[in-house]
Amino acid sequence: MKNALALLCAFALSLAALAQQPANKLKVFISVDMEGVSGVVSNDQTAAGGPDYNRFRRIMTEETNAAIDGAIAAGATEVVVNDSHGSMRNLQIEELHAPAELISSSIKPMGMMQGIDASFDAVIFVGYHAKAGSAVGVLAHTGTGTIADVRINGHSVGEAGMNTLAAGALGVPVVMITGDQAAIAQARELAPKIEGVQVKEAIGTTAARSLRPAEAAARIRAAAERALKRRTEFQPVRPTTPTTFEVAFTQTVLADVAEQIPTVKRVDARTVNYSTPDYLQGYRLLRVLYRYLRAD
Ligand SMILES: [Zn+2]
Repeated sequence: MKNALALLCAFALSLAALAQQPANKLKVFISVDMEGVSGVVSNDQTAAGGPDYNRFRRIMTEETNAAIDGAIAAGATEVVVNDSHGSMRNLQIEELHAPAELISSSIKPMGMMQGIDASFDAVIFVGYHAKAGSAVGVLAHTGTGTIADVRINGHSVGEAGMNTLAAGALGVPVVMITGDQAAIAQARELAPKIEGVQVKEAIGTTAARSLRPAEAAARIRAAAERALKRRTEFQPVRPTTPTTFEVAFTQTVLADVAEQIPTVKRVDARTVNYSTPDYLQGYRLLRVLYRYLRAD
């Protein structure tokens, strides 16, 4: 009898524990850049005020909605979208599909990964592009035009790489990227199994053969659903710590400024580095170095 009572109590306790867990929670974080969106081949298409900017921000929003729809089809219960391009005020909120919420504008200390935390189950990158210095990759760059290369623990990475490690530091895996073939290949250097949706084939850095936006959206929706349904296959890519960030600028004068920051050391004319036990702290400083450093 005593045993039966103990068993009953244990059963009741486990029921209570189950009731406290949100049923089948699936939180998805979507970071959206613009250079990797279908049809984008030139900077004036991605800059506010450019003659074609409004067309391409609409297509950017459509690709984002496709990822949201795929996430919902896979059972997502919460979707947070972070506008990660330029002013970070590109996505049109009134057109965004439910139930997504939008993070936009600056200053965001975590930039392209603002809003992520350890409660998320998966990350999707939409509209991403190849890193600075790529021979092939539409509008290839890292952060801004002031960066020649970023190396994390000796490994050259682009935005997808540094953001994959930021998610990994919080224990969250990246499951999918959309962009051209170079963006996808570079993302897979760190996360080989991620779903890749090639919405265009880069021809050099300023031309591409693109899918029609409707076709790109259909493929993104299907891939997001597929990737999230197999999310248990993905492991977060955790940065090794302490982490060394090495930043090669395009101008010597930027290294002159950067080395004035305590912990930042000069490596050579255009290169600085720093080490930190906290990857996310290093990521935030990296953002300061590529986005807010001025030489005049
Ligand atoms: Zn970018």
